[in-house]
Amino acid sequence: MPEVNYDDKNWFYIKNGRAMVSLGSLNQYKTCPYSCAFCYVQDGFIPYAKKNINEIVDFLIRHREKYDIIYVSGDTDSFAKPRTQTGISLLQSISENINCDLLFTTRTIFSSEDLQQLKKVVNTLKNKNKDLFACISITRFSDEVSYLEPYPIPSPQARIDTIKHLHNIGAVTVLALRPFLPIVKVTDYLSILNICKDYIDIALGEAFYFQKDGKIEKRVFPNGIPNKVETALKKVHMDFNENNKEWEIWESEFIESTIRNFCDKNNVIFSMHSADAINNYKSQKNLQILL
Ligand code: SF4
Repeated sequence: MPEVNYDDKNWFYIKNGRAMVSLGSLNQYKTCPYSCAFCYVQDGFIPYAKKNINEIVDFLIRHREKYDIIYVSGDTDSFAKPRTQTGISLLQSISENINCDLLFTTRTIFSSEDLQQLKKVVNTLKNKNKDLFACISITRFSDEVSYLEPYPIPSPQARIDTIKHLHNIGAVTVLALRPFLPIVKVTDYLSILNICKDYIDIALGEAFYFQKDGKIEKRVFPNGIPNKVETALKKVHMDFNENNKEWEIWESEFIESTIRNFCDKNNVIFSMHSADAINNYKSQKNLQILL
């Protein structure tokens, strides 16, 4: 795990109106309870500081003028077992102490008790005219590429069911089909969307970042990078983390336009960037209030 020296100002990541926080590393050996093949933390994404709930909320209050939305997301899954309750308690504390939209991302599934608590977070925020954006990540549907999301990540179907439960408690539901990967067929994404389309508000894609000869490359492409991928690569810096590395980036206009068309036909907001999707959702909501 990378060693990082933090001062109070950069425990977490605040930029472009977003504050990104998390529970930090699971322990001294593992950043996250899960181990996705494409996880950026393996190859240089700088993880956040490990702080308790009071410290995280104090940090957010101290820096309140710098952001319009809080993400509990980033370097770890703060809701995966064994930290599900701590992650929910963090959402509760943020919703009670800060007047702000709140988004969380996870690959976990929630029990009915968890959902009752999340419903209270939804209602606390609604009373402040704010939303809870509940984002569930699903990167594949077919078992052929199940190695991308290894055990103990719950099955795609279990996560699809979780999105429905989150929709039923009044959360704004976000399906993160992220990142779009060259070894996942577009039919996988369409299968997931077909099942979820009636209870998701937003679908997100994302370009795929990896380091040449790094861990992500070896795990995502166990048989080597396909030629057509190699020739389409570009080099970029990440604009959502302070690491200074140059990353190989792969994007697919075909996947993006196919998913966009599906979403347009089914009244689901689609974007490759969460900030754009959230702004779009809020404008549509404001329009409905005016009509
Ligand atoms: S859940 Fe997120 S942080 Fe955890 S291993 Fe997967 S991609 Fe990385």
